[in-house]
Amino acid sequence: MTRCFHFLYRCQSSLSQFQIPNPLGERQNPMTDQILGVLQSIRIQDVFDVAIIAGMIFVLLTWFKDRASRFVLVGISLLGVVYLIARFFQLYLTTIALQGFFAILLFVLVVIFQEDLRRFFERLAVWGVFRKRKYDSSPRHAYVNIIADTVDSLSRRRTGALIVIQGHDPLGRHLTGGTELDGVISQPLLESIFDPHSAGHDGAVLILGHRITRFGCHLPLSIDSSRYPNVGLRHTAALGLAERSDAMCIVVSEERGSVSIARRERLHPVQSITELKSAIESFYEEKAPEAKQKFLTRWLKDNPREKIMAVLLACILWFFFGYQKESISRDFVVPIEYINVSKDWVIQESKTTRAKVVLTGSYQGFQLLNDESLKFSIDLSNLKNGWQEFILTKEMINVPSNLSVDTISPRYVQVRASRLISVSYPVDVITKNEPLKGLKVEQITVTPLTVKILLPANVQHKNIKIKTEPIDLKLMQTSTIIEPRILYPPEAQFPGGKPPSVKVYIKIEEAAANKNTND
Ligand code: ATP
Ligand code: MG
Repeated sequence: MTRCFHFLYRCQSSLSQFQIPNPLGERQNPMTDQILGVLQSIRIQDVFDVAIIAGMIFVLLTWFKDRASRFVLVGISLLGVVYLIARFFQLYLTTIALQGFFAILLFVLVVIFQEDLRRFFERLAVWGVFRKRKYDSSPRHAYVNIIADTVDSLSRRRTGALIVIQGHDPLGRHLTGGTELDGVISQPLLESIFDPHSAGHDGAVLILGHRITRFGCHLPLSIDSSRYPNVGLRHTAALGLAERSDAMCIVVSEERGSVSIARRERLHPVQSITELKSAIESFYEEKAPEAKQKFLTRWLKDNPREKIMAVLLACILWFFFGYQKESISRDFVVPIEYINVSKDWVIQESKTTRAKVVLTGSYQGFQLLNDESLKFSIDLSNLKNGWQEFILTKEMINVPSNLSVDTISPRYVQVRASRLISVSYPVDVITKNEPLKGLKVEQITVTPLTVKILLPANVQHKNIKIKTEPIDLKLMQTSTIIEPRILYPPEAQFPGGKPPSVKVYIKIEEAAANKNTND
């Protein structure tokens, strides 16, 4: 909503920048310049942006086109306009009240459109699977004629009938009862089903493409049949299914012999068999167009008004929300990451871990930026021993293409590196305390005798001693093998990344026996 508010201001300021052309015909024309400026600044991303939004608006427009719930959309849009006006003129109470309403709007919308949302997701789930299977290549007019002729014949004989021709929406959820069937449409079959003496004449016949898939089904009743006061259950059921799906329901009245079609929440009478045929034909054409018309031409011809509106709306939205001529600058403190340090090198010190950058770009560019992901990556594949400097350049920071790096500070970072040298050291076994009375340590052996570690070249290697953590001899009652922790110097690195381990064998013997031998 705040964005919409900005939108009004931007409209104001954009319009005030457009000037009336100079009557003397001078070359400078700010309005043309501005339009040219906008056109020149369009990037391929903007085209995709507009196309996606136009697509979404188009889906919304066509969705609401045939649905009674479109009034809800109109109502909400009106409230939106009232809200914008209220904010513009600072009408405090209205703004607060509408803000409260918008906060719960999402839940309200889900409740209002739950049926539509369900249908939408159902269609999405079966899309493709259904399209291919539903209609076959047999001549369409043949089965359109069969349906229309049967309906005509039933109406002449005043045999009540209800025929459902399925569209794209799956209907299983709405139908109850009935008997499964998989038969090619024919007049005798349809007439037999609706014959009042047959067991399955009650209820509806379901047609998918050119096959009858089910008969004797029970349909849901209309929730709003008060618009048609003189109809009974059969018509109300036809209307009920038409309200919930994109199916076409044809009803033959038993009482009057009249024929009606229920589609998209409406029930309308059919005056002649020709009208009925063309209604069925156009229903099939809409649901599974015949190949004679090229896909692209058909696609372009469908819903032209909604398409133009969607593209226009998307362009307007892009102009006010997506297009930004003025650029802004922002500064960020960015961490520095040192990469490609080869295994035999170590960074002993780096004075700088963060750098400040000033980025410039459009407001939208910053909106899309995840500043947490910004970092400098310094390639340390060519190191030398000791202190060295690396200049921070624009190439080292991962800035998106719609933003540019203005300044970087500090200009360079210092790193102290050292080559690692592999050295072998003997392991000193450290012990503490004495064995318990009567016991003595006969022998201590360590395997392996030496361990290999990596040390920076500038560390005094000679002073280094590798020791185990002290082993408590008081705890040793018998000869034992243990794996003590080794205390490595802090600069040490290890070949293979893992510190080497050693095993210490402590041989314990009885002191008394030993004493005797000595004696
Ligand atoms: P008609 O003009 O033929 O009399 P109507 O609209 O006045 O139709 P009813 O007289 O109530 O309707 O017709 C009852 C018949 O409608 C039932 O015998 C049954 O075959 C059918 N019917 C009733 N309810 C349903 C339903 N929910 N789904 C399918 N068919 C139904
Ligand atoms: Mg009746």
